[in-house]
Amino acid sequence: MKYAVLADVHANLTALEMILKDIDNRGSVDGIWCLGDIVGYGPDPHQRIELVRQRCSVCVAGNHDWATIRKIGTNHFNVAAGDAIVWTRKRLKPEDVKYAESLPLTIEMGDFTLTHGSPRDPIWEYILSEAEAQESLKYFKTHYCLIGNSHLPLLFQCEKSCALSELSDGSVIKLGEKRLIINPGSVGQPRDNDPRASYAIYDGEAGTVTLHRVEYDIPAVQLRMKESGLPEKLIKRLASGQ
Ligand code: ZN
Repeated sequence: MKYAVLADVHANLTALEMILKDIDNRGSVDGIWCLGDIVGYGPDPHQRIELVRQRCSVCVAGNHDWATIRKIGTNHFNVAAGDAIVWTRKRLKPEDVKYAESLPLTIEMGDFTLTHGSPRDPIWEYILSEAEAQESLKYFKTHYCLIGNSHLPLLFQCEKSCALSELSDGSVIKLGEKRLIINPGSVGQPRDNDPRASYAIYDGEAGTVTLHRVEYDIPAVQLRMKESGLPEKLIKRLASGQ
């Protein structure tokens, strides 16, 4: 069984389409797992939710999804992110809201727990340090955990303590004894200085998770963001991957 793992698409339809093409070009997968933050930042919220509904077999909710459907307020977001959420709210169709409302905070899929922030706090927490990864271990029952939220492709390998490593295009994680927390990076707004869209493929037979980066037409997305009046800061950061 093979599954693609996507996180933090953030309404970037162009990046998502290129990733779906890349997944299809690599042969079929048995499903696509989505780790939340479907919307926010990007210019295509409705189309994005529509495509996630069609293609992703399971999906959890992220902080931007919840803020967009008013399950949480915008006061904990920075100004640009808050403005993008308010912009997004006006563009969602009732079926998009219904879908976002139906998303759970965590899902277990075989050996994996899927969540957006962390298993302790699926909406808000960022797992960036070895200590934070260590603390998270007691909050999920499965052997491995898949997270998003930071937009950084990261691996934590845990035994007595957790060791952090950064993932790049083609990185292969071997699944074994150690408990792992894996972040596949962001589809729609990478922040590891590599502007290419990021995702991973879990291969159950080979016992691996492999990270992939995919180029997409960044200027086209920036143009749509500009035309939509989205904050300049968000438009610029797409090109630098920061
Ligand atoms: Zn995000």
